[in-house]
Amino acid sequence: CGIFGVTGVQDAATFVALGLHALQHRGQEAGGIVAHDPEQGFNSARRFGYVRDNFTSADIMETLPGPLAIGHVRYSTTGSKGQTAIRDVQPFFGEFSMGGAAIAHNGNITNANALRRELIERGSIFQSSSDSECIIHLMARSLQRNIPERMEDALRRVEGAFSVVAMTRTKLIGVRDPLGVRPLVLGRVGDGWCLSSETCALDIIGAEFIREIEPGEMVVITADKGVESHFPFRPQPSKFCIFEHVYFSRPDSILGGRSVYETREAIGRELAKESPAEADIVCPVPDSGTPAAIGYSLESGIPYAMGIIRNQYMGRTFIEPTEQIRNMGVRLKLNVNRALIRGKRVVLVDDSVVRGTTSRKIKEMILDAGAKEVHFRIASPPTAWPCFYGVDTPEREKLLAATMSEDEMVKHLAVDSLKFISLDGLYRAVGESQGRNKACPQYCDACFSGEYPVVPADKVEQGFKM
Ligand code: SF4
Ligand code: MG
Repeated sequence: CGIFGVTGVQDAATFVALGLHALQHRGQEAGGIVAHDPEQGFNSARRFGYVRDNFTSADIMETLPGPLAIGHVRYSTTGSKGQTAIRDVQPFFGEFSMGGAAIAHNGNITNANALRRELIERGSIFQSSSDSECIIHLMARSLQRNIPERMEDALRRVEGAFSVVAMTRTKLIGVRDPLGVRPLVLGRVGDGWCLSSETCALDIIGAEFIREIEPGEMVVITADKGVESHFPFRPQPSKFCIFEHVYFSRPDSILGGRSVYETREAIGRELAKESPAEADIVCPVPDSGTPAAIGYSLESGIPYAMGIIRNQYMGRTFIEPTEQIRNMGVRLKLNVNRALIRGKRVVLVDDSVVRGTTSRKIKEMILDAGAKEVHFRIASPPTAWPCFYGVDTPEREKLLAATMSEDEMVKHLAVDSLKFISLDGLYRAVGESQGRNKACPQYCDACFSGEYPVVPADKVEQGFKM
C-alpha cells in the first residue's frame, strides 16, 4: 500500500490526492483521504479504483477542506481477499476522549488475528476485516492522555511490518516499525511538512526531500513545534524489505540514499556477470524488468531492445487480486514486438518469478513471434517463501520456486536457460559490497531465504511451517 500525509498547507487533501496518485503503483484497488479543518472538523472519502478517477472532481475535493490531511492507496494483503469491501478502505478513524484520530497503515500485522480475538473478547466492535483496524482499538483501550502516546502503546503490542501516517486535529504523525520493513520519508512543502511512502510523491507536489524516517522512529509534527522525533520501541537491527529495491518502489524514488533506478541497473549488471548468455538482444519484461535489462545490456554489451511492448493503460498484473484476472492480464498488458524478435536469440529480463504464470505466457508469445532462443534472467533470487509483511505473495504451494528446482523450472517454462541472481549478488547490487551478512542479514529477504525476521504468529497458528 501507499501512504501520504501533509500539514500546514492550504487544501491539504489536494496535495494528498497528488501524492497518492504518485504512489498508485503501491495499490490500485481503492483509495481514501481524511482531512481536518478547524471549522468543519474531520471529513473523509473512500473510493474503489484509481486516485485520478476519484479524487480529482471538485464534488469530492470540496468536501475535504483544511490544512491537514492523510491518505492511503490500498492493495489487499489481508482482509477480504479478492474483493475489497469499502469498509476495509483506509484511513481508519477513531473518536477518543481527547478528540479524533485517523490512521493509514502500510505493511502487515503478523499477530492481528490474536489481537482481534483478544479485543473482541474485551468488547471492541470491529468495522472491517483489515488487520490495520487493530491499531485503532488498541488506541481506544490505552490509558494514555494524548493520542501520540496512545499510538505508541498500541504499536508496542503490534508485531510485523508497519509504516503508519496518522493525524489528530492538530498533529501529523509518522511511525516506522522497529525493523523498518516498509519505507516512509519526510518532506518539506512550503511552510508545511509531508510524510510519504516514497520520494516520488514528494516530487509531484514540489516538496523537498528531508530524510527517511528511521526504523523505530515516531515523528509528531505540529504547526508551532515542527518535527519532534522519538524512539518508542526497543531498538533492533533494521530489516528493510529488499524487494522494495527490486520491484515494489518506483524507479524514480530514493531509497537508502540511492536511486532505485540505479540499484536496479546494478542488479542487471550483477546478473550479467553471474549469468552471461550468448544472445543477440536483451529485452525487458516491462516495466518492472526494464532497469535491470538496461544494466544487463550495458554490462554484457548485448544490444537492448524493446521486444515486448506494454499497454500503458493496464495496471500492475500482480496487484490484480484474482488468478483469473491475472491470467488474462498478461495479454491485455503485454504484446511482442514481432519485427524485433524474429530469428533472434533473446535474453528476457524480469524482476521476479512468483507463480510463473506471466513468465510462461511471455515465453510462448516470444517463441510464437519467431525467436530462436529464449534465455530468462531474473533480477531476484527464486521466490520460494510467502511474504507476511505487506507484499501479497501467494501461499507457498503456488510459488513456482517452492515446488520446483531450478532445473524443473527450466523444463516447466520450456526456456533455453533460466538464471536467477544470487542472494549475495543482490546484496552487492543494493550497495552491500561484502554481500549478505549471514549472521545478521542487512535486509529482510524472507521471500527468498525463508529467514523471517519476525515470526508470522497468525500463520504459524494456522499451520505454516517456517
Ligand atoms: Fe520484502 Fe520479501 Fe521481506 Fe516481504 S518477505 S518484506 S517482500 S523481502
Ligand atoms: Mg512485471
